[in-house]
Amino acid sequence: MFENLSDRLSGVFDRLTKQGALSEDDVKTALREVRVALLEADVSLPVARNFVKAVQDKATGQAVTKSVTPGQQVVKIVHDELVNVLSGEGEPGALKIDNAPAPILMVGLQGSGKTTTTAKLAKRLKDTQNKRILMASLDTNRPAAMEQLAILGQQIGVDTLPIVKGEDPVTIARRAKTQASLGGYDVYMLDTAGRLHIDEELIAQAAAVRDAVSPRETLLVVDGLTGQDAVNVAEEFDGKIGVSGVVLTRMDGDGRGGAALSMRAVTGKPIKFVGLGEKMDAIEEFHPERIAGRILG
Ligand code: GDP
Repeated sequence: MFENLSDRLSGVFDRLTKQGALSEDDVKTALREVRVALLEADVSLPVARNFVKAVQDKATGQAVTKSVTPGQQVVKIVHDELVNVLSGEGEPGALKIDNAPAPILMVGLQGSGKTTTTAKLAKRLKDTQNKRILMASLDTNRPAAMEQLAILGQQIGVDTLPIVKGEDPVTIARRAKTQASLGGYDVYMLDTAGRLHIDEELIAQAAAVRDAVSPRETLLVVDGLTGQDAVNVAEEFDGKIGVSGVVLTRMDGDGRGGAALSMRAVTGKPIKFVGLGEKMDAIEEFHPERIAGRILG
């Protein structure tokens, strides 16, 4: 039977909380299981190790208060440490979009949910902050992807830059910038081309667009179900073009929080939003508390 991280940790702590007192051996045994559970959830080995060590250090020195069982106390320490690792600086989901028109560059691999996320975020900024948004697809290799953004734009009532055949991505980005300035838009979002793997052309293209518009935010969209791969992709994108935040999609999937934990610990980048389904409203700002709660079950 497949056990996700939450189930497994609940199991560990169920056993703990049934005991009256907590010996050092109990803590060690429990934390060993926590580590295995983290690894099974695709948290990277160094991250899992550091995490367990931090919890052990905190748990060992602590006096057990009368109001909680030792097990509950360890659960709280694990919870607080999860929140600690997952937390970024500033408000969750805050985007730097002052100085209109503010460019937002969307990057990521094909199939990660980049185009869907672009539209979801545009809708969110329109609905919650009353922003006027212009979206533009730069995926000149895939006309279907450009069409997809236009269709989503119509669906959510957000303008898209008219498609001109034969233009290269930098030209489209410049046209978006001009149109956004002239049209009085607050934000313009550039949906860059995706590929199945990171290749030089993809990176060169994203870098050229970045240099042309100097984005206020460069958001990397990664599939939250791909675990360690998502972290590798993030490290590579960040190293090569610089990323200001991460959006983890498909977090409506099997409920694991492993990718979020590794992502934060390894890249140091804030996770700004999580995608929770295919619908245009299925996105929320990243709440470390919620993910920590989900991991613990
Ligand atoms: P792109 O190639 O990166 O632009 O990916 P798309 O935006 O076309 O998304 C690929 C598929 O993933 C589509 O069927 C989306 O509806 C779906 N998708 C995107 N985000 C999410 C999410 O958060 N949860 C789920 N369940 N599906 C998503």
